[in-house]
Amino acid sequence: MKITRIDLGHEIFANCYLLVDEKTGESAIVDPAYFNDEIADAFDEAGMGELKYILLTHGHFDHIFGVHGLKEATGAQVVIHKDDADFLLDPEKSLAKNNFPEHQLPVEADIILNDGDELFLGEEKITVVSTPGHTMGSVCYIIDNDRVIVSGDTLFCMTAGRTDLYGGNEEMMIDSLKKLIALEGDYRVLPGHNRETTLDRERTRNWYIRRMVK
Ligand SMILES: [Zn+2]
Ligand SMILES: [Zn+2]
Repeated sequence: MKITRIDLGHEIFANCYLLVDEKTGESAIVDPAYFNDEIADAFDEAGMGELKYILLTHGHFDHIFGVHGLKEATGAQVVIHKDDADFLLDPEKSLAKNNFPEHQLPVEADIILNDGDELFLGEEKITVVSTPGHTMGSVCYIIDNDRVIVSGDTLFCMTAGRTDLYGGNEEMMIDSLKKLIALEGDYRVLPGHNRETTLDRERTRNWYIRRMVK
């Protein structure tokens, strides 16, 4: 899978990744926090091909503002965990209301996820791992063949996502991090904010895991 991080033009927006199966050209975009013509061009330049999925790690505003425009432009299917699906219709839950309420246009989810679901781009498998804690419906996407975890706002380089927002729960976050560090072997970790890391690095150096996850 070819994986490209797309610059959305402002640091308040979460990291946005384009995943392309090079054999078939089928692609997915993770967490399009913003969408306009320039960003459409950036996706095209990165080789977007046929956009099959808009994959959301959770429903916060800084991950979803681009969903409406991108779906309109491409017809791709919007994919989110069942417990965050209503964030797409509710600026209060998405926290858009107190930040940029005018930016959130309501959009219906097309595919509702549960833990363990599998999605495919060509023959490349993406496994959904439910990781509640930051929100109830937070997920990580594991790209099996490439050993990549797209970790949203669950696992960050050196820390973890906040648990004090609507739907957050610290005990669940600890269990979710345990689930990730129990995966076998090393993975590249592509988080929702800040820089990429690896699972091995986070197993030993992440201050939240060292302090909270025994
Ligand atoms: Zn975020
Ligand atoms: Zn978030």
